[in-house]
Amino acid sequence: MDLGLKDKVIIVTGGAKGIGEAISKLVAAEGAIAVVVGRGAADNDKAVAAIKSAGGKAFAIQAELGEVADCRRVIDTTVKEFGTIHALINNAGVNDGVGLEKGDPERFMASLQKNLSHYYNLAHYALPYLKANKGSIVNIGSKVATTGQGNTSGYAASKGAINALTREWAVELVPYSVRVNTVIPAEVWTPLYETWINSLPNPKEKLASIVSKIPLEQRMTTSEEIAAMTVFLLAPQSAHTTGQIIYVDGGYTHLDRSIS
Ligand code: NAP
Repeated sequence: MDLGLKDKVIIVTGGAKGIGEAISKLVAAEGAIAVVVGRGAADNDKAVAAIKSAGGKAFAIQAELGEVADCRRVIDTTVKEFGTIHALINNAGVNDGVGLEKGDPERFMASLQKNLSHYYNLAHYALPYLKANKGSIVNIGSKVATTGQGNTSGYAASKGAINALTREWAVELVPYSVRVNTVIPAEVWTPLYETWINSLPNPKEKLASIVSKIPLEQRMTTSEEIAAMTVFLLAPQSAHTTGQIIYVDGGYTHLDRSIS
């Protein structure tokens, strides 16, 4: 199936690692230009080099997305380099463990800055270009917005807001045929996931317990499976899909617990 993404300019935040890396690789494999944005310059360069060595097109932008000025620079740099933007994948985030009891107001606000604000800021600055191209936004959320997790108020609040903004932006952007959707992962082995599981007591036992409860095949979702849904949502085949919150999680969030 041709996803019609050849030479499209697609920004992928957190595009050098984990789920974002899989998305960057897949958009490039589809012939698009992957604009890899992340805080680690060396990580970005490595991801871009890997895409280029596989014959794809990619470009790195170092940015700390918690900073508004960096968000603006990401959009300005992309437009200076490529003239336009066809799609924005808001993916960068961190499950940073700012709990109700163990956190504090300053860390809570900092968590919103790291997990939520840049989704808005980038969409805001990219909007003129997305409008011009009838482009698309895909946000990467988390099942935490639906289930809670405990001890992660900032992350949960951000991910809940991202679901709300998906509907809000989808409505606001209907007149421009700009589509907005969200993909929800639950359990995906990435550098972020490894750090999180290792922060818990008995991580090996905890991991085995989680995996045993994933209904479909008792296995974690792969980053490539999240990427496949994300990229399909950008394609003309998804031209009438907007405002949707799509769970790619082996049924972990919603299916009857008695089946696993
Ligand atoms: P990851 O392995 O940590 O990769 C995320 C990348 O984004 C890293 O390169 C990270 O840089 C970068 N990044 C994060 N915050 C940034 C910021 N403020 N500014 C610039 N760069 C930033 O994470 P992942 O597991 O692939 O997660 C990707 C998305 O999926 C996140 O939104 C996460 O909430 C969501 N998600 C993941 C899972 C899962 O099971 N993995 C489950 C539910 C939701 P550093 O490495 O320097 O931090």
